[in-house]
Amino acid sequence: LDVIDAAEPQLHAFLHVSADEALAQADAFDEKLAAGETEGLPELAGVPIAIKDMIVTKGIPTTAASKILEGWVPPYDATVIEKIKAAGMPILGKTNLDEFAQGSSTEHSAFGNTYNPWDKQRVPGGSGGGSAAAVSSYEAPLALGTDTGGSIRQPASFTGSVGVKPTYGGVSRYGAIAMASSLDQIGPCARTVLDAALLHEVIGGNDRRDSTSIPEPMPHVVDAAREGLKRDLTGVRVGLIKEISGNGEGFQPGVAKRFDEAVKLLESMGATVTEVSLPHLSYSLGAYYIIMPSEVSSNLARYDGMRYGLRVMPPTGVPQTAANMMAYTREAGFGDEVKRRIVLGTYALSAGYYDAWYGSAQKVRTLVIEDFAKAFEQVDVLASPTAPTTAFKFGEKTDDPLAMYLGDVTTIPANLAGVPAISVPCGVDDETNMPVGFQFFAPQKRDDVMYKPAAALE
Ligand code: GLN
Repeated sequence: LDVIDAAEPQLHAFLHVSADEALAQADAFDEKLAAGETEGLPELAGVPIAIKDMIVTKGIPTTAASKILEGWVPPYDATVIEKIKAAGMPILGKTNLDEFAQGSSTEHSAFGNTYNPWDKQRVPGGSGGGSAAAVSSYEAPLALGTDTGGSIRQPASFTGSVGVKPTYGGVSRYGAIAMASSLDQIGPCARTVLDAALLHEVIGGNDRRDSTSIPEPMPHVVDAAREGLKRDLTGVRVGLIKEISGNGEGFQPGVAKRFDEAVKLLESMGATVTEVSLPHLSYSLGAYYIIMPSEVSSNLARYDGMRYGLRVMPPTGVPQTAANMMAYTREAGFGDEVKRRIVLGTYALSAGYYDAWYGSAQKVRTLVIEDFAKAFEQVDVLASPTAPTTAFKFGEKTDDPLAMYLGDVTTIPANLAGVPAISVPCGVDDETNMPVGFQFFAPQKRDDVMYKPAAALE
């Protein structure tokens, strides 16, 4: 809490610091320790954690960085929060993000920017820039994020930390504020791969309150990370994804350079490396930016001024109807990027356009899923740079939504296919002096398979 106090004026990683709650939880854990009641507690017991403000916390304000939820205090905990509390992990507070997790820089937060701890003129990535900045600046040893199209992995890459998007269904989404439900997944932000694995096992597993939760037991990611730390990758087959391997358009040369060096390092540890083509990956960005806003437009319909947070009544002279109240509330409560996506999604889903847009995008999604399945017949893990560039400067892309979207090309395929992916640091770009991230993908439900080479590389 002292580190947070000292760092926050420069970083603004947190929207809310829950100091009293954290201290009470730490005291409760101390009492358990004193009484010798530590049976069954995980290794992370007593380790504090920061939570992206996209995950609901009972009694602690939760805003999704939106004015429309300002002042809302959830009456319940997300499943992952229940698990974290049961593990004896004190909750330090709620971290900043792009409004409703929509963005790649945290500049779309309604409550101000978060600064990259490496360089205050640069963004920490997004949408989970707050969690990544908190972890990379030692404000918190661990954090939770949500990843719909890269929001855990790209900020990890931009801040030199580790970020994991688990298999879709591997971690309960109950209590994660919905952005695009078929893509959303909660996952760990950490400073090492082993830390991420330990947290992954605390939060993962079946939950009957999430209908898309995987019923089978989760894979042993901690064992896999420990195995990786032996730095022997004999027999591990790594496939470099041709379509996003770093040499194409839009990739910063320094990113490709560090990526290629990391590939050599994997080979020196015994891995066999080949190039694999996933031909439909080139269409995944387009498919994502149809499917995601469609689900956003549907999910965000619940912010109607009736149930949560902000309510703005129409001014005098305007009929005081429910419809007008909703319109004024949504006009005042949502930021530009969220409105843009609601409009896009409403259009894509509208009668007459549904088959052309949403229907086609879903077909592309199936082709991407099949590409991954075929590739995993040849290799154990797939690899690419986590992001085409290192962290960019504030304002560089805010006037050009398309430029912002294009940076997601490397992370989005994992969400479309539901496969797990992890970002690990692989050095610093010579030109910008900013960290570069290396991404591994593994088959669905085999998150363990990517933890081994990720831990070896770190
Ligand atoms: N940057 C992506 C987007 O803007 C991903 C967001 C996310 O993963 N929540 O949609």
